[in-house]
Amino acid sequence: MSITSFLPPVRTLMGPGPSDVHPRISSAMARPTIGHLDPLFVGMMDEVKSLLQYAFQTKNELTIPVSAPGSAGMETCFMNLVEAGDKVVVCQNGVFGGRMKENVERLGATAIMVEDEWGKAVDCNKVEEALKANPDTKILAFVHAETSTGAVSDAKTLCEIARKHDCLTIVDAVTSLGGSELRVDDWGIDAIYSGTQKCLSCTPGISPVSFSKKATDVITSRKTKVNSWFLDMNLVMGYWGANTKRAYHHTAPVNALYALHESLVMLQDEGLENSWARHAKNHQALRAGLEAMGLSFIVDEADRLAQLNSVTIPDGVDEAAVRGQLLNEFNLEIGAGLGALAGKVWRIGLMGHSSRAENIILCLSALEAVLGDAVKQGVAVAAAQEILGA
Ligand SMILES: *Cc1c(COP(=O)(O)O)cnc(C)c1O
Repeated sequence: MSITSFLPPVRTLMGPGPSDVHPRISSAMARPTIGHLDPLFVGMMDEVKSLLQYAFQTKNELTIPVSAPGSAGMETCFMNLVEAGDKVVVCQNGVFGGRMKENVERLGATAIMVEDEWGKAVDCNKVEEALKANPDTKILAFVHAETSTGAVSDAKTLCEIARKHDCLTIVDAVTSLGGSELRVDDWGIDAIYSGTQKCLSCTPGISPVSFSKKATDVITSRKTKVNSWFLDMNLVMGYWGANTKRAYHHTAPVNALYALHESLVMLQDEGLENSWARHAKNHQALRAGLEAMGLSFIVDEADRLAQLNSVTIPDGVDEAAVRGQLLNEFNLEIGAGLGALAGKVWRIGLMGHSSRAENIILCLSALEAVLGDAVKQGVAVAAAQEILGA
């Protein structure tokens, strides 16, 4: 057998994640591996925590990266805060709310579902009704940015409602962190998880999480042990915690954390609010181009995510063949529809380093070339340029 090195092509990643990794971040990842208990590495871990506090806009002490992808961040929040017999109100308006339900039920707790149509934001009134009808609810869980549809929900109001009903909140911010306004302390979020491969433009495989003081107290005073050894924050705190002598828990993914550190330094240097503004502007440019071409968005304008654009497929077009052609002829990846929207939409991501002018122009021209007569020709790039140049 003689298998040779794997040499992936350079693609432009405009799907639902991973997004384009900035060369500064991939080169950080190639730096020499040192021991995870090396004092220099421990110093870098502390910087990662501070940088994450900035990204989340929080002073929460328990703000750390979980050594596994976004789904593990989700499990970390549910495993640590939910105990058997608890009641959790779960909002579902796409794929990821369904995974929250799975988490709750596997823990022997009850999920009260508040469902909204795919492509709509979570309806705050329905959430209020559900909490009124279930006054013994412990936690409200919702997805801030639904990557499966491209809809953003009003996290600030949802957290206000939860507080009024004396509930903790678990918020999925995998796609919102770095790309949409998100203020953990101001909005009073208790537990939040994200991912590195969306608007942070880092390599996949790490999940930043943060827990408020109230949530941390719930975790440290549980009646039962957390059902996972690896994700038990009571143990992980000894590895990442403040004012503790670092004790071995697991081996941190050393090089992946160099990459996360670099991506967070880049976010700090750009400025969080500038990053939100860049995502918003580039979304408007892509939108202008797509609409000029004749494509339309499935999410109402007020609830649209800048970093994930779901557009309808023109009649008679083979959506999978188009994605294949974009990939093979233009090295461009866009996303397919997921769940209820499979076969009905394309999902075009403008996340992190992927959210830039050259990607927008490439995407519009490549789509125009591949779609031919199915769309209006020769107008998309100019429409986008008008906004990019402004
Ligand atoms: C991508 C994503 C996840 C899962 O993250 P992985 O890193 O793929 O495990 C969870 N929630 C949302 C909203 C996502 O977009």
